[in-house]
Amino acid sequence: MFTSAHLYPCRYATLGQADFFAPVEPRGLNHPRLIHLNQPLADHFGLGGADFTPDNFLHYLADKRLPEGVQPLACAYSGHQFGVFNPQLGDGRAMLLGEFADPQGERWEFQLKGSGPTPYSRGFDGRAVLRSVIREYLASEAMAGLGIPTTRALCVVDSDTPVFREEVESASMMIRVAPSHLRFGSFEHFYARQEYDRLRQLADFCIEHYFPDLAERKDRYAAWFETVVVRTAKLIAQWQAVGFCHGVMNTDNFSILGLTIDYGPYGFLETYDPKHICNHSDHQGRYAFELQPRMALWNCYCLAQALTPLVDKAALQAALDRYDPVLQKHYLERMRAKLGLWQAGPTQEQIDEALVAALFQLMQAQQLDYSRFFRGLCAYVDSGDTNEWLLQQGERGPIEAWLADYRLRLEEEPDADRANKMRRENPKYVLRNYLAQQAIDAAKEGDNRLVDQLLTLLQAPFDEHPQFEPFSAAAPEWAADLCVSCSS
Ligand code: AMP
Ligand code: MG
Repeated sequence: MFTSAHLYPCRYATLGQADFFAPVEPRGLNHPRLIHLNQPLADHFGLGGADFTPDNFLHYLADKRLPEGVQPLACAYSGHQFGVFNPQLGDGRAMLLGEFADPQGERWEFQLKGSGPTPYSRGFDGRAVLRSVIREYLASEAMAGLGIPTTRALCVVDSDTPVFREEVESASMMIRVAPSHLRFGSFEHFYARQEYDRLRQLADFCIEHYFPDLAERKDRYAAWFETVVVRTAKLIAQWQAVGFCHGVMNTDNFSILGLTIDYGPYGFLETYDPKHICNHSDHQGRYAFELQPRMALWNCYCLAQALTPLVDKAALQAALDRYDPVLQKHYLERMRAKLGLWQAGPTQEQIDEALVAALFQLMQAQQLDYSRFFRGLCAYVDSGDTNEWLLQQGERGPIEAWLADYRLRLEEEPDADRANKMRRENPKYVLRNYLAQQAIDAAKEGDNRLVDQLLTLLQAPFDEHPQFEPFSAAAPEWAADLCVSCSS
């Protein structure tokens, strides 16, 4: 598939097989066919050229011929799922193939998702269906396009191999890449088993490879945990500002690097609703949009508990105490940037916090579309009172009242280039569920053009793409009942 010059054995394998992972062999696919290759990403990683071609990859999926010396492996982990600890999770339908070095010398893990059962499959089939793979493919690239830390996706393949869900579907695969796929649950795994030597070994491995600046510090475990907490807080601030709902914020789906990982029944806010639950299996609303910041902190507490054999409790608590202030600071910064406000200072921040809160009240009362309203605001800033579009989105009076306050605030901070700067903060294109669904429906019929077009848009979501203007529209009525759950 790749020349061995590119694909190295995983560094994770140096931890030793017992308990950390299991060597596995991928199951092949009947008549694999490429749905999409993420060419810009392949180019970025220096994977263009003869050693990484769709043909090579498809050949590999059919014949499972890896370069010599490469041993795929499935990683063990545990995790809190919807608040309940599950000691037996792990890569049930994914496997690390190896690592490659990008032109800057950074190593990236290559993970095949949907490649058949592993010792961690718990009786499930280890497969992924086309709809879930396309959804992950588009979402991770959409997040990257928005500048939000995430795993990336390199290609999607469909096949004639049948998979049984509510109905018969086709088995699909994708290649996911990330510097590391380690999760909070990877550490909880060894804590729960009271294997504290292994816990330390994993923490040392993680710090050495992914947090090397901390490796020499005496308090390195505490400093590392604090860094994870801070990264998580910043990540969640970005999710909230862009209106991203993850859907399954279990600790096994929380990256130790602070990446968005494991896209299942996610959603981007369309009509603004802080109580929005994107996962139809989440009956309690545990992961409702407005609860995401709390839930991520709860996950940090789980990780803290798992690290108690390595770090004293006061240091863990001190790190956890940083979560709220970091989250609030970054969230306000992001929201102010969306409004075209950058001037800092405590008084200013208080005023802007109130302005943002009032905007959310307005959005909720008027049922405004989250992304479209913010993008519309850019045009409003360009043309001032003459922009009618915003006022037509709901009742005129309340929108005008908020805009009046907003205008006053803008006058305090004159900026001739504000609208353009705001357009770099407020995407024109977001991955609405109906768009993903249309791309999936077309791909099932053998037409991959929509996947291709959406990917192009989502990788540059702040730009105008006049030929794709309809993709910036709100969902049509037929999409109101679209429902997404964990079954993938
Ligand atoms: P998720 O919430 O989708 O991240 O998955 C939770 C756990 O279930 C992970 O350990 C997955 O590997 C596993 N899993 C999900 N779907 C399958 C499947 N079709 N076959 C085997 N394991 C699966
Ligand atoms: Mg998962």
